[in-house]
Amino acid sequence: MDELILLKCGELALKGLNRRSFEDVLMKNCRRRLEGLGSFHIYSSQSTIYVEPQGAQIDLDEAVERLLRVFGIAALTRAGVMQKDFADIREKAVPYLEAALARAKTFKVEAKRSDKSFPMKSPELCRELGAVLLEAYPYLTVDVHHPDVTVYIEIRERAAYLHTDQLPGAGGLPIGTSGNAMLLISGGIDSPVAGYMMAKRGLRVYAVHFVSPPYTSEHALEKVKTLCKRMSAYCGRIRLAVVPFTALQEAIRDNCPEDLFTVIMRRYMMRIAEQLAKGSDCQALITGESVAQVASQTLHAIACTDVACEMPVLRPVIGMDKNEIVKIAYKIDTFETSILPYEDCCTVFTPKHPRTRPQLRYVLEAEKKMDEQLVQQAIAATEYCVIG
Ligand code: ATP
Ligand code: MG
Repeated sequence: MDELILLKCGELALKGLNRRSFEDVLMKNCRRRLEGLGSFHIYSSQSTIYVEPQGAQIDLDEAVERLLRVFGIAALTRAGVMQKDFADIREKAVPYLEAALARAKTFKVEAKRSDKSFPMKSPELCRELGAVLLEAYPYLTVDVHHPDVTVYIEIRERAAYLHTDQLPGAGGLPIGTSGNAMLLISGGIDSPVAGYMMAKRGLRVYAVHFVSPPYTSEHALEKVKTLCKRMSAYCGRIRLAVVPFTALQEAIRDNCPEDLFTVIMRRYMMRIAEQLAKGSDCQALITGESVAQVASQTLHAIACTDVACEMPVLRPVIGMDKNEIVKIAYKIDTFETSILPYEDCCTVFTPKHPRTRPQLRYVLEAEKKMDEQLVQQAIAATEYCVIG
């Protein structure tokens, strides 16, 4: 019997006139995410997206796994496709539901009839299909209040669809419907989570990572690439810019007061990230900063880094506790990679006593000694790779 996947759109429904274009983006994202699994016919009708495999060999379990990570989907389910004819439904429903009902003691049937020309009304359809299932599976009883399994029969435009309870989708908005943003990604726990959170709001995420060879190793860069790969299961393909930062860090070390090292370094990161962001048509930066987590993330320090660039800086984990961030890192499967012990350029030349209340005027004064050409040189030497 034919089977497909039904997707219910989430917040899309709220978007009124934009809905159509949101659905188009969502369908395009689904197509991309299913690449390599075979051919699918994907179309929408009445706020449902239909994902039809074209061929019996296609691994629908894997397709569901991937679609569970696509933002903009509120719920999804596999469904059996039947003719809009009760004889066909009766015949196919019993074998189709065997696995789902095997562990159940109680069930109920819910019918939805959006094709009003179907001769049976919903209550009759529920009753009749319920009777067929009771006969086929005599160990079951009906419980309309708290059933173990609810069986849904939906009579729609093209066919009848039979399924059990839906799975909750990834929620959020389709990637690309809210614009583009550049994530400053370190090898840590917080920045991948920050990228995931903003992608969930419909942003396409680009990434930038600063490396300081020979102080940071090839392993550290590989780790960041692995993090991008993990994130791409949710965020889609990610273009990663790798910026050589050694010369700038050495210049800061040699020319600026030690206690301002971190805040000045962070300001250079923001400036370079902003220029790269403009080149990639991004409208914002994203960081994994969280208030007071480390010395560079006090309000004073954030005030100094914030004015280093003009673009809005999105900091989705700013008010979260570490354990809340870690929970999401587990969920998106970045945690194990993030805790691998490789040096980040932030930990190179870390001052013994970083200033927790840096003042902008001293920072600006110190930066006067810096050679601004180093910024353009770093940007010119930036390398790119596409991940996912
Ligand atoms: P994370 O867990 O994301 O590394 P953190 O708690 O270690 O964060 P910091 O090291 O102070 O905090 O970094 C704060 C933010 O600065 C990071 O979340 C990230 O957005 C950015 N950042 C730090 N190091 C780098 C880097 N090497 N390349 C790009 N961005 C970085
Ligand atoms: Mg870090």
